[in-house]
Formats: sequence, structure tokens, C-alpha cells
Amino acid sequence: MQRRDFLTGAAVAALLPVNAAQATPGSALPTLRWRLASSFPKSLDTIYGAAEILSKRVAALTGGKFQIRVFAGGELVPPLQVLDAIGNGTAECGHSAGYYYVGKNMALAFDTAVPFGLTARQQNAWMYAGGGIEALRKLYAQYGVLQFPGGNTGTQMGGWFRKEIKSLADLKGLKMRIPGIGGKIMARLGAVPQTLPGGDIYPALERGALDAAEWVGPYDDEKLGFHKIARHYYYPGWWEGGPQLSFYVNQAAWQSLPEPYRQAFEVATAEANQLMLAQYDAKNPPALLRLVGQGVKLHPYPKDVMLAARRATFALYEEEAKINPDFAAIYRPWKRFRDTEFQWFKVNEAVYANFNYYVK
Ligand code: CA
Repeated sequence: MQRRDFLTGAAVAALLPVNAAQATPGSALPTLRWRLASSFPKSLDTIYGAAEILSKRVAALTGGKFQIRVFAGGELVPPLQVLDAIGNGTAECGHSAGYYYVGKNMALAFDTAVPFGLTARQQNAWMYAGGGIEALRKLYAQYGVLQFPGGNTGTQMGGWFRKEIKSLADLKGLKMRIPGIGGKIMARLGAVPQTLPGGDIYPALERGALDAAEWVGPYDDEKLGFHKIARHYYYPGWWEGGPQLSFYVNQAAWQSLPEPYRQAFEVATAEANQLMLAQYDAKNPPALLRLVGQGVKLHPYPKDVMLAARRATFALYEEEAKINPDFAAIYRPWKRFRDTEFQWFKVNEAVYANFNYYVK
């Protein structure tokens, strides 16, 4: 038997899961049209663009038979309701961030970033080679979806402040746009966290309803224009050391997908995951130079703020682990993984980086 014959007809059908084989009589793969609900606006080309990369690559790998149409945040469903929309089948797949859904379960934050957590490289190591994907898929099964890593911004900046922050005391009563667990920690440090979508931040800063705001980093922040109002730009974004975006697929839709299409989808998510970080790492440095050229003042967070934030963060994790078994199930092994990664990166990567970045 020639290899070509072996790979067609009944042999392929026999290799496929039963329901997929039923949908694909013989070797003819079906034409499929899926919808992807993104949480992001088209203006954020690096983040939104990951879904376009997925869509184009899947079509190319399937001879144009598997088409995924991308809908920007709000077009199909509101940006922060993507997880529900995929779970209930409103769309077959989506692109969003797990930490938008911490109101359902704080454990979902491990899918994106938690304060004082992993960098982008370490997140990839945890996801692909450290048990992260398996742990998160178990969690997401409760919501009827399958998760795939789908991009990373790299370490984010720590936000824009109208006035300089010289010590922990300067955070008292400060109104800052910072959502999620980062916001909870800021509240424990005395600030008043606010959750606002990206488009509402600039007007709130302008009219004084906000004293500070964080978004992503130089490339995205420059577009939103925060530097025109708040001149002090802080680093690092200790609540987002390597935030990951994710693709989500409805479980039933995945079950009905022919195996070659599953392979195409999975490999395209990995490509999109890598290319987003590459885009940010290439676009952030010139954007930062432009911002500094316009008079933006760069500051590291004061050490007492960093230390107090870290203390409050791990106290919060311990409290949550006591009352949330899903959080504890991910947090305990994640923490061991994180601590071991940090030991290794401290020995080698950090010394290499510090020497090269700072030597005169
Ligand atoms: Ca952010």
C-alpha cells in the first residue's frame, strides 16, 4: 500500500474521534465557519492582532476550509463577557484575559498574571512545560471552555501619576485606575482602586476623577495619551510581571472539530502567543524613548511601596487559599514552580542582564 492511499479514506476516518468522523465522511474535510469574540478593540493592534494571526494561519493550514471570523470587543458581546459567551456557545471561540473573570473565581487570575508572579518567559515555562495548561484546563472545564495560551505583553509598566509618589504614605486616598488583584492590593496600601475600560481612562484623568492610571506599557499607553496629563511614569507593574492573554474554545465545538483542524488551531495559538510578545518587545523601546523625549519623568516605585505590596499580596493569597479550593489547587504547585524559577533566573539571567544593562 502506498503512503498516499494509507492516509486517505477509511484509514483517516478510523483515526478520528467518532463524532468528528461522522462529520467527515471519507477524506473530505468539511467547510467550517467559526466566530471568535475578542475582548479587545482593533486599535490595540498587538493584542487584538493575535486573533487575526490565529484566523489567517488556521485558514492557510486547512486550505481555506476552516474559517474563523474575528469580532472586536463589543461587536458580538461586551468585552468583559467573552468567557460566558464561549461557555454558552454564543461564539465557538474567543480571545480574552482570565483575570477579567476573577469575580467568578480568583483562581482564573493564574491564566493571566497575579501580583509578584511570573515573567512572560516563566509563564510560558509554567504553561507549556510546568503543568500550567493542565491545571488551568481542569479549572476552565467548569465553565465549558478549553484554554490555550494566546499572547503576552511582557512586564507591564506601573502606571501614570499626576504627582510624584515618594513613599507609601503618598498612596493614601489616591484614586487609581487599576483592576483585578492589583487593585485589591492597592486598596490594602491605602489607595482607592477604580476599574475603567481603556477608552474611559483619559477623560477621567483629565477631569481629575483619577489621580493615577495603569494600562499596559509604552506602546499602548502612548496611543491613549496619558502622558499629556500625568507626567510621572512608574515601573515596574508589579501586579503584571508577564500577563498572558488566552484563546478559549467551547468544549462541544472542540469535540466536533476534525482532528486536522484541532491541530491547525493549536499550532496557530502557539504562533500567536509568541508573536504578540515579539511585537511588544520590538515596539515598546522606541515608544518609551518618544515618551521620555516629550518630558515624561520615569521613576521606580519606592522600595517601601514594593515591600508593602509584596507582603499584602502573599497575605491575600494565603487567605484565598483557605476559602477557595480551586485557588489552593493551583496556587500551591504554582508557588513552588515560581520560587524555583526565580532561583534559576537570579543565578544566571539576572546577573547577565544587570551587567549588560548597567555597566559603564
Ligand atoms: Ca495593566
